Amino acid sequence: MTRLEDLRCSVCLTLDSLQLDARAGVVECEECGAKARVVVETLDTGWGGR
Ligand SMILES: [Zn+2]
Repeated sequence: MTRLEDLRCSVCLTLDSLQLDARAGVVECEECGAKARVVVETLDTGWGGR
């Protein structure tokens, strides 16, 4: 899980409480337990360099 800094939970309004589970594509608030689905793009798209 990755902590999402400078983001506020839209349910309980706690700052820095969101954890990203990239594998499940879910953001979960560790304060109130609210979950939201997110679309996580893989890192091998959109860079084009290399
Ligand atoms: Zn919350």
